Amino acid sequence: MKILLIGSGGREHAMARKFSKSSKVSKIFVAPGNGGTALEDKCENVAITGIDKLLAFAKENNIELTVVGPEDPLTEGISDAFKAEGLRIFGPCKNGAMLEGSKSFSKEFMKKYGVKTAAYEVFEDAEKAMAYLYTVDYPIVIKADGLAAGKGVSICETVEEGKKAISDFMLDDIFNGAGKRVVIEEFLVGVEASILSITDGKTIIPFISAKDHKQIYDGGKGPNTGGMGVISPNPYVTDEVLQDFKDNIMARTLDGIQKEGFDFKGIIFFGVMITKKGSYLLEYNVRMGDPETQSVLGLMDTDFVELIEAALDERLSDVEVQWKNGACCNVVLASKGYPLSYKKGYEISIDESVKNDVIIAGATLKNGKLLTSGGRVLSVVGVGKDYEEARKVAYEKLQKVSFEGMVYRTDIGKVE
Ligand code: ATP
Repeated sequence: MKILLIGSGGREHAMARKFSKSSKVSKIFVAPGNGGTALEDKCENVAITGIDKLLAFAKENNIELTVVGPEDPLTEGISDAFKAEGLRIFGPCKNGAMLEGSKSFSKEFMKKYGVKTAAYEVFEDAEKAMAYLYTVDYPIVIKADGLAAGKGVSICETVEEGKKAISDFMLDDIFNGAGKRVVIEEFLVGVEASILSITDGKTIIPFISAKDHKQIYDGGKGPNTGGMGVISPNPYVTDEVLQDFKDNIMARTLDGIQKEGFDFKGIIFFGVMITKKGSYLLEYNVRMGDPETQSVLGLMDTDFVELIEAALDERLSDVEVQWKNGACCNVVLASKGYPLSYKKGYEISIDESVKNDVIIAGATLKNGKLLTSGGRVLSVVGVGKDYEEARKVAYEKLQKVSFEGMVYRTDIGKVE
């Protein structure tokens, strides 16, 4: 089978590697890919972007399955366009992708179907939003409605901070339209969990849980990043938490998807806050997480391509996903200065012995050399019988990788 995989991050490299292990797969085109997918078994990078060009490529090259990594093409309707031409594509159509594409839409959906979430209000008028700030308890959370590359959430401690966020989002329009409407919601105290799942629109199967580490420095200090590492399963997702999640979040979401009539064959990533009063849904993503994918797929024994095919054929009710026992830890190696400014173009050295444990995110291949090209450069993955061993393996292996300005957290997966 020939696959077209869309995206260029660590998530896509992890998916490409997993796909390449499937006996069903002969070739994986990655559009546009990165320095890791360029070197991966069965893989070839193709420098195309945009729905029309991707569609033309899929037709010309007899692609049998297209898998979409990031959210943007999904919210722009890539699945609708491929399906209209009779092509197989994994990822929701535009209406279902709105669960990630618009926070006000997803909150209305949660409310309508009883999915447990923080109390909220939606505003399209900055003056009304500012007036509302005088009526709430602090901290409060202000969110840009549309996609803002993970930067559209502001946790405000005071009215003044809230006014600044509203002014930035709504009046100064720092997110090019995505913040013209805002969601203002109750601040929840708890521990976060990422629970990915696969659905065919009739059945939904949760994947093993994961815990991201968003801040740049050890101990959860410093500014937020795209994610500095993940431990899977999430130590806080006990059987009780999982049951609560399934009953009050996951099942109700599937019910909503069915009642709304969304054509949703894809991934649902639930961003959950585990609180003393149970689990609340913070957000939906309609694709795999990055860097969650690097840890979750590290534990998946099932052939992912077969699983995706089962979803496309609405056969998920017959499937049981197999997972390794133990834990998987992935530690992100980043460029010094990230998430602010950083230098690029440094050569990356990876010892042959850990080549298969490295997942590339922000690096390109130039004249046979891997050069840093992003803030989050790569992940090193360790699997072990428990958290401690997975951590130990990951941290030992990363000693065999180096590039100038390499920084990483030393506490990924540390369980207190
Ligand atoms: P991502 O970067 O995951 O795509 P996003 O910008 O789409 O995020 P959210 O996931 O909704 O937005 O929020 C980002 C982060 O803000 C969360 O991971 C969480 O740490 C914090 N957050 C969001 N909502 C709340 C809330 N109601 N209470 C406390 N913290 C919150």
